[in-house]
Amino acid sequence: MSGMMNVTGSKGKSRYDGPRRRMVETVADNGVKDLRVLHALDTIPRHLLVPEALWDQAYKNTSIPIGENQTISQPEIVAAMSEALELKGDELVLEVGTGSGYQAAVLSRLADRVISIERIPKLAAKARSALDRLGVTNVVVHLGDGSQGRPNDGPFDAIIVTAGGPEIPKPLLEQLAPGGRLVGPFGPREAQSLIRIRRTGDGEFKKEVLGKCRFVDLIGQHGWGG
Ligand code: SAM
Repeated sequence: MSGMMNVTGSKGKSRYDGPRRRMVETVADNGVKDLRVLHALDTIPRHLLVPEALWDQAYKNTSIPIGENQTISQPEIVAAMSEALELKGDELVLEVGTGSGYQAAVLSRLADRVISIERIPKLAAKARSALDRLGVTNVVVHLGDGSQGRPNDGPFDAIIVTAGGPEIPKPLLEQLAPGGRLVGPFGPREAQSLIRIRRTGDGEFKKEVLGKCRFVDLIGQHGWGG
């Protein structure tokens, strides 16, 4: 194995292995139980998804600025939302809000294919490079208004929205496959509810409130307006 690149994009052990392990323990202590999700967090070098000046903060259980007034979400919320999607490994997933690419990298380990949409060109380009550096090949990043989804690429087995919108975008509900789950933050700007929608086999939508959260704005036709 000598000389081979590992998933951290570097050779051998990294000084971040310990902090990453402790981050995963914190996430587990705070209630995330899905071992596939915890393992995914344990294999993804979060520091490579944030600006280099902030690498030493990368394994704290906090959100971190990534430029363009946007953030990489808190590891605990990334894990909780991933768990709520109930992925088994064979799904097609849509992510709205690529940001740093971290959530997409986590999903890449949990599902078959991920389509991720980002509205800010610089972030979409940076996320693509970071995902390439991590060797992630089953994530496609598109530039655009994710509140409209990607009707030609669906239906999706799971949809995750990682920016806060006033309400659940209708096009996303329409693009959810029967049996599929949609998870995202919706409600007033200051305090959203983390919502899960299940589309039943007979086309009904069942809603659950999973908790409270606060995300940056979902901006777009079915968000807070562009
Ligand atoms: N999932 C990201 C990660 O792992 O780093 C964090 C997402 S950050 C909290 C929210 C992202 O959603 C921002 O990058 C923002 O530009 C993006 N966004 C907001 N509205 C959007 C829209 N309508 N379509 C696509 N991306 C959007």
